[in-house]
Amino acid sequence: MLNINNPEVDSSARNILQQVFGYDHFRDRQESIINAAIAGRDSLVLMPTGGGKSLCYQIPALVRPGVGLVVSPLIALMQDQVNTLRQLGVKAAFLNSTLSWQQKQDIVARMNSGETDLIYVAPERLSQADTLEWLSRHRISLIAIDEAHCVSQWGHDFRPDYLSLGQLGACFPDVPRMALTATATPATRQDILQNLQLHEPVVYVSSFDRPNIRYSVAPKLDAKNQLIRFLENHRADCGIVYCLSRKKVESTALWLNQRGFNALPYHAGLPGSERAENQSRFQFEDNLIMVATIAFGMGIDKPDVRFVAHLDLPGSVESYYQETGRAGRDGQPSDAWMVYGLNDVVQRSQMLERSDADEIHKRNERSKLDSLLGWCEVTQCRRSSLLEYFGEKLQAPCGNCDTCLDPPKTRHGTEIAQKLLSCIYRTGQRFGALHIIDVLLGKDTEKIRQHGHLHLSTFGIGADLSQNQWRSVIRQLIVRGFLVSDAERFGALRFTGTTHPLLKGEIDLMLREDIKKQTVARKTKIKTDVGEENQELWEALRTCRKQLAEQYGIPPYMVFHDNTLKEIMQQKPVRHEELLNISGIGHAKLEKFGDEFLEVVRGYPGESFEVRHSRQVGRTDQ
Ligand code: ADP
Ligand code: ZN
Repeated sequence: MLNINNPEVDSSARNILQQVFGYDHFRDRQESIINAAIAGRDSLVLMPTGGGKSLCYQIPALVRPGVGLVVSPLIALMQDQVNTLRQLGVKAAFLNSTLSWQQKQDIVARMNSGETDLIYVAPERLSQADTLEWLSRHRISLIAIDEAHCVSQWGHDFRPDYLSLGQLGACFPDVPRMALTATATPATRQDILQNLQLHEPVVYVSSFDRPNIRYSVAPKLDAKNQLIRFLENHRADCGIVYCLSRKKVESTALWLNQRGFNALPYHAGLPGSERAENQSRFQFEDNLIMVATIAFGMGIDKPDVRFVAHLDLPGSVESYYQETGRAGRDGQPSDAWMVYGLNDVVQRSQMLERSDADEIHKRNERSKLDSLLGWCEVTQCRRSSLLEYFGEKLQAPCGNCDTCLDPPKTRHGTEIAQKLLSCIYRTGQRFGALHIIDVLLGKDTEKIRQHGHLHLSTFGIGADLSQNQWRSVIRQLIVRGFLVSDAERFGALRFTGTTHPLLKGEIDLMLREDIKKQTVARKTKIKTDVGEENQELWEALRTCRKQLAEQYGIPPYMVFHDNTLKEIMQQKPVRHEELLNISGIGHAKLEKFGDEFLEVVRGYPGESFEVRHSRQVGRTDQ
């Protein structure tokens, strides 16, 4: 049972939400999920990253008598969660392979003497008979199985140890179990229900929309400079830049550092110690860019990642959603930004063709890639089509994606396509994009002379478009299946079964006109909503947070999230108790950090303080 040193705290769910976590309201489904668990029901909770899954099991575990048992697969996440809970005054602990014998003994002793509210356990530990036997001697309030998709062989992260979790129901027949995941696919859901053998579970499916994330995809022209321009709006932020190869990770990190950004590389080829060091710096520092391959991702629980940028195309819509989902867990405005171009389309297709996977697998992967490419090219609301992919319908265009904010222009492109296709046809479907474009533009190159292409009727017929525009046209025709880039023949452009009708002008083709346009810049910088007049106070609050974080050896966001800091900045609380009205401040944090922040606010009284203060003391004549 929760035993916080404050006699006012009672154990109803809402009180715990307010007094321990410092939040005013439950988010959409949280309250029903929590109530079902308190009533003893099993449940499956599907909620996107940042949706607030943790509270769903933490609160009922505290309300019900006994110790809450949380199964969690990632050591880093486990430690992070336990640290966060301890800051809130909750008695949390974890059991995993990183602990020394002595540490384990301490945890066991504290459990035995009833001084534990929540215990996090790694799945491999739970599959050991002695752990189960030991746990069964305690009263367990609730069993939460986090990242429950790990039990599914269809998922991207199958863990054999998760399969043994099915037996928990038999070991603890009267304890409600809650499985939680951010993976939405129906196959995974089915596997979870079946393998965990939940008893008549209530299934909660939240919307997978992440409204605070702004999606944008820009045509790739000069990727590194486009990235720099994008990052100008994120000068003081933390974010991730994903690249496909280790080499590109290294070179991009170097380039960013040379341009005055604080960037670190991360990929599986780096020594373990360097990876750990870089990951921990990412967790602790508040304006750091991690340039990384997809090796960086699992286990990042940082709530204030303000952007995820892709310099290369991910492999599927699912991967894209998952990778960009690491931005904005705290609900604050964040960017998912990607540049993509003809090379990405060719490169990804070639990777696929060259892999030694069997035909069925390849076909599967190809259709996944095609969905992603189609999504890159959409002209209607990008968020709607992303969610549609996961079977969800948005009522109206979102107003917070590139295609909503700056609708792409389209034009009739059949004639343009005809020029291109006849050029490919006349050169024998043997050449790649580069050469074909040279012919269209009428360039006098060695290769053109060598093959006699100077004399073709299509030589120079495309001089009205730029090279980049032609690249965009080719990209769009590949994505729509009118052309293929042949991996076996160095990317030679070839016709497909649907090319001839287009060549004959029987299809009215609409093309995106995406070249002139630059990327959609955020019109207001995220940090400018701090406002000119508050800038100094904001910086002072951040400094205070940083100092406290260092003093306690925790990341700054564990002191207070940005949202909380912003509220302090806006409300400028004067008295201790006023801090409790601010979202994210419960009793434990008030005691620990409150005075320091009040001190900072007092140093920046400004107008609003004066006015409010005079109102409080009953004078209105100022
Ligand atoms: P998930 O595990 O689903 O990715 P978390 O449990 O980490 O999400 O929650 C994401 C963020 O939202 C956390 O910072 C958490 O403190 C915050 N949060 C959760 N529930 C609420 C709520 N009811 N009110 C305000 N903030 C909340
Ligand atoms: Zn939109």
